[in-house]
Amino acid sequence: MRRLGSVTLGLVLSLLVLTSAAAQVAPQPAPEAVFFGSVPTRGGVALVAVTGETPVTVLLDALRDEGCEPELLAVTIGGRFRLYSPDAPAFANREFPDPLVPPRAAIVSCSPASQVRDAHLVQLVTKDHALPADFVPEDLVALPEQWTLPGLGSERLTAEAAAALEEMLQAASDAGHEIVVRSAYRSYEEQVYTYQYWVDILGATEADRRSARPGHSEHQLGTVVDLTNAEVGWDLLPEFGDTPGGQWLKEHAAEYGFVESYPEGAEAITGYLYEPWHLRYVGTYHASLLEFTGLTLTEYLGQLQSSSN
Ligand SMILES: [Zn+2]
Repeated sequence: MRRLGSVTLGLVLSLLVLTSAAAQVAPQPAPEAVFFGSVPTRGGVALVAVTGETPVTVLLDALRDEGCEPELLAVTIGGRFRLYSPDAPAFANREFPDPLVPPRAAIVSCSPASQVRDAHLVQLVTKDHALPADFVPEDLVALPEQWTLPGLGSERLTAEAAAALEEMLQAASDAGHEIVVRSAYRSYEEQVYTYQYWVDILGATEADRRSARPGHSEHQLGTVVDLTNAEVGWDLLPEFGDTPGGQWLKEHAAEYGFVESYPEGAEAITGYLYEPWHLRYVGTYHASLLEFTGLTLTEYLGQLQSSSN
């Protein structure tokens, strides 16, 4: 909820596009509703965040009157956003849990959300949810040396994540921040060594706070990078988040579809210490929605998964 009050700059762009449509919808049946704006995405998805005392069913009807076939993506319940998956069986005909209780905010889409259905982008990988040992992303490509730390061998990502990463790092560079990849795709076997490295140094209990067991690493997805810069000696340190480059990423990564998997103060939810260097590509659609809802990635993907079952 805290983020709704300050809709991010990224959203403002398309505010203009949607405001006219929203303004036509809001006044009649839902005069007290406030439309915050929309989220531009590569899939062309338009999202509208709405708040007020208007029951969500009334808002959906109002949007239908405007020619929109609204898909309800999230509503606040008890002050927290709850997501709805479009893959849920009841998606087409879903109902708000209690239409008599006005939501404080809802997020709806008037156009098909292609990225929502990209299963690999939203695969939940945590201490409790593992990938098969033999899972290997299909379309891994080598990252240009320009964006990787010299001497560590060629780093790889899926083609889509690699393209988005290059775009993001180039934009960071243009803004004066030299940021490089220290680590990207890691196979199951490589994670065996990585995890054991930490166990040998710290013991299993502490190792589990900062390194994933084999099969439980998001790096195996091929959509995750560990980033670093000169200010932290090209290492992976929490202080990276405070460097100008780290701050730039916090502000702009979502515009390129990247999000922090392990934000500060969320160890109880994510299972991991703060890792400002570990960014996961989920696409601009999910990154925008995630930012909007204020959920951690772990909660977000968990809700998507459970609402699909
Ligand atoms: Zn990482």
